[in-house]
Amino acid sequence: MATAAPVQTPEKLVDRHGRAITYLRISVTDRCDLRCRYCMAEQMTFLPRAQLLDLEEIALIAERFISRGVRKIRLTGGEPLVRRDMLELVARLGHSLGQGLDELTLTTNGTRLDQHADALFAAGVRRLNVSMDSRDPATFRHITRHGDVGQVLNGIGAASAAGLAVKINMVALTGLNEHEIAPMLAWCVDQGHDLTLIETMPLGQIDEDRADRFLPLTQVLDDLRARFDLQFEDRSSGGPARYWRVQDTGTRLGLISPLTGNFCATCNRVRLSTDGKLHMCLGHDDSVDLKAAIRDGGLAEVDVRITEALGLKPAAHDFRIERGAAPAVSRHMSVTGG
Ligand code: SAM
Ligand code: SF4
Repeated sequence: MATAAPVQTPEKLVDRHGRAITYLRISVTDRCDLRCRYCMAEQMTFLPRAQLLDLEEIALIAERFISRGVRKIRLTGGEPLVRRDMLELVARLGHSLGQGLDELTLTTNGTRLDQHADALFAAGVRRLNVSMDSRDPATFRHITRHGDVGQVLNGIGAASAAGLAVKINMVALTGLNEHEIAPMLAWCVDQGHDLTLIETMPLGQIDEDRADRFLPLTQVLDDLRARFDLQFEDRSSGGPARYWRVQDTGTRLGLISPLTGNFCATCNRVRLSTDGKLHMCLGHDDSVDLKAAIRDGGLAEVDVRITEALGLKPAAHDFRIERGAAPAVSRHMSVTGG
């Protein structure tokens, strides 16, 4: 019987533009209990379960990335907390904290946080991003098509009580929540949360034209500056956000504006999709298939494919929001991991 080839100590991850890759986002499921209008169609079809990576495969691939220099992992989706074995995965990856991994975190819609906040903290999670585009029950229900903002607010309360720092994600949407942005920042200051505002991105087909709801954050920032004392923080997280400190508070305001200003030059991240594809950029179609690699050739083959992927990472995305235009890529954010 053939024995598996020994796995060599692999090289660190540096892409063809010289950027070190230290951040992995994993979409653990493309399913979700909400249907945010800018993210999914109402009749969204999901991948058959057989096409998903299983928990052991996700953990092995993630651990391989850690051994190659990834120091931060974000679990996302879809809604990560709807996956049944999710807490097992968090606990497993939590064992790598302090052993190469500096931070394990999640992006969640918060609907199930009240049940899981304590377990997340126990596994080593210390910070979460919770998406909440409105605190008004009717607007929240409209944007998510059926969500209950009370459930999300309970979840945020449970997370804070468990000791988890919460950053609120809010997609800025013309005619839907633009008047709630300043009150949301005031609420975050009051509650001790950070706030990140996001421009809607052209990812995957939805039932509406995203151009109708696109709100440039340049415009939003001017308005917030008139109401809050905002100090620009001259530091890069390696991500697409720029940050401002709300003076004399613990709150940081982040702006993710891939349309009105991209910060790809310092990009440090790659994404593992629900079906095991490694995407080097949210805005491009190129990927390598790590599910096939781990199933056919084990971790040695995963290493080969990761190295190959480094040669595919583009310099930048080229998002545009134009009325009637097809999305920049056909994949929804929920598959690639937002
Ligand atoms: N379901 C979780 C949630 O909503 O937080 C995690 C996945 S969701 C895809 C991650 C983030 O992406 C959320 O903050 C969501 O608002 C954002 N998002 C989804 N689709 C987007 C799009 N087309 N453009 C910009 N942001 C989007
Ligand atoms: Fe679900 Fe998050 Fe997409 Fe909303 S943004 S539909 S909560 S995956």
